[in-house]
Amino acid sequence: MITFKGVTKVYERQGEKVKAVDHVNMKVEEGEICVLIGPSGCGKTTLLRMVNRLVPLSEGTIEVGGTEINSLDPIQLRRSIGYVIQQNGLFPNMTIEENINVVPKMIGWDVQKMKSRYQELMEMMGLDPEEYRKRFPWELSGGQQQRIGVARAMAADPPVMLMDEPFGALDPVIRDHLQNEFLRLQKHMKKTILFVSHDIDEAIRLGDKIAIFNKGSLMQFGTPDDILSNPRNEFVRDFIGTDREIKRLSLLTVKELLHKGKKLGRSQTIPHEVNRESVKLDTDLRTALSVLLASPTGEAAVVDHHNHPHGIISISDFQILTGVHPTKLQTIVR
Ligand code: ADP
Ligand code: MG
Repeated sequence: MITFKGVTKVYERQGEKVKAVDHVNMKVEEGEICVLIGPSGCGKTTLLRMVNRLVPLSEGTIEVGGTEINSLDPIQLRRSIGYVIQQNGLFPNMTIEENINVVPKMIGWDVQKMKSRYQELMEMMGLDPEEYRKRFPWELSGGQQQRIGVARAMAADPPVMLMDEPFGALDPVIRDHLQNEFLRLQKHMKKTILFVSHDIDEAIRLGDKIAIFNKGSLMQFGTPDDILSNPRNEFVRDFIGTDREIKRLSLLTVKELLHKGKKLGRSQTIPHEVNRESVKLDTDLRTALSVLLASPTGEAAVVDHHNHPHGIISISDFQILTGVHPTKLQTIVR
């Protein structure tokens, strides 16, 4: 869907050349979220802005939906790509409704269509359409403004979205909430999304793919599991941090652990009644591990949502999966 080939950007600043993006090759599939991550100044925003031609390429090509972007009219291109900038970028002199309708208005939607789209987007974002219609951005909290920024980018229903640290400036509780909402929406929307972040936990949580950058170069591109289980170099290893085995656990569920145990021929006793610590089949393994560590037996029953038992897991099962010794797991978690 979005293909980067040899993409390079060299800025000139006071006669000095700055290579912000250096021969990047990668491919983002349709309907996927690709998180671009790396330290400040590594070229994430530049790469994003090259996709909608706000920054011209110095070298290389970018294709969106099989068409090279330089062969398209830049205005047309931008209308088919939703863009959420760092710090939401709402127009301060426009009401919330006017902000959301900027692109629909430009492309000539009729008033009724814009009205119902506004209604729909506000409901999607969990904000009361009537309450906010005539308000101005400064009257809203940071979290609400971010949501309006996302709604505005989605207004004309573009197949591609570029999101530059949309939840970056928010406090952790609100960020957590918006991340969940965003994933829930994406399940239905299936948009192709480039999402910039500097937070590895956010990247692991949201990304179907993660692209890690350092000084303009792509260090590694892959699924969160690829990157956590096989960091390609020292930089990636450092960037994801020392607790990568634990981070990886949050990607997997109890069900997968049981399945893996069965494949390895481990017998599974299914308890008749559940009168001990229990975890659900769809509990993530990071949560399950903390339950096990708190359990006096080091075990927990696995149940489904009807509380029917499916098996038992223990701390030592985690060793199979992670290769990390159980005593080390304890020290990592604590
Ligand atoms: P990130 O979003 O990862 O923080 P940026 O893409 O904003 O990184 O910046 C990458 C590099 O390019 C930095 O060294 C930055 O100073 C430089 N840079 C960004 N924009 C410009 C510009 N308009 N002119 C000159 N240098 C720039
Ligand atoms: Mg940036």
